[in-house]
Amino acid sequence: MVKFDTIVLKIKRQERAESKPYWEEFHLTYRSYMNVISCLQEIQKHPKTFDGRKTTPVTWEQSCLEEVCGSCSMVINGRVRQACSALIDQLGDYITIEPMTKFPVIRDLVVNRRVIFENFKRVKAWVEVGDQNVKGPGPKIAPEIADMRYHLSECMTCGCCMEACPQFNDRSDFIGPASINQVRLFNTHPLGANLKEDRLLTLMGKGGIEDCGNAQNCVKACPKGIPLVTSIIETNREITVNLLNLLKK
Ligand code: SF4
Repeated sequence: MVKFDTIVLKIKRQERAESKPYWEEFHLTYRSYMNVISCLQEIQKHPKTFDGRKTTPVTWEQSCLEEVCGSCSMVINGRVRQACSALIDQLGDYITIEPMTKFPVIRDLVVNRRVIFENFKRVKAWVEVGDQNVKGPGPKIAPEIADMRYHLSECMTCGCCMEACPQFNDRSDFIGPASINQVRLFNTHPLGANLKEDRLLTLMGKGGIEDCGNAQNCVKACPKGIPLVTSIIETNREITVNLLNLLKK
């Protein structure tokens, strides 16, 4: 196992949404099995920079600590990922930590990911149940479709795919890979398919699937290994079929 005496952490900090970012350096004593969250907790207990200057504790978001909630996304050594699964033994003894750049910073490493949820609303990422609950059991789903959908449903709205996507930025309206994946998820549900055309029409509009630049960074960045490029390809095919059907009408 790799061992270091001291871990150097350089953290990009920002007091408020409108204030200027700045860097602070912290030196911590290495312990076995540390991850980025335990380093941040250590700094929280003793908020002093490497030269002994007192500072404010670093602010970050966390919840499940097992790569399920998606709340501790940050850029670690230049790569967007979850802080809970970022192990010091694998990162080395010099670590840079920054907030994600595609979402507005609230404070330090906490960003506002609201746009993801707004985009999920745009594509109606839900199943409208209506009176189905009084009609008895829902339709059966073939095991292979259920398996595929289960994997798509693992999205934890962490924002990593959008952080890695060059097309998702404040100069573009691109809805992002996660929302396109939600379209595939709900369009392949027997009841969710009731809204299939609405979702496809949304993706045919401004900021829709046409804005994807095929960089394919999203699929590499997704901590859950969701096949985002396949979701984009499959949804694009559905859009073409839908367009041809519309032209026939
Ligand atoms: Fe995160 Fe993957 Fe969902 Fe994108 S698709 S928000 S990377 S879990």
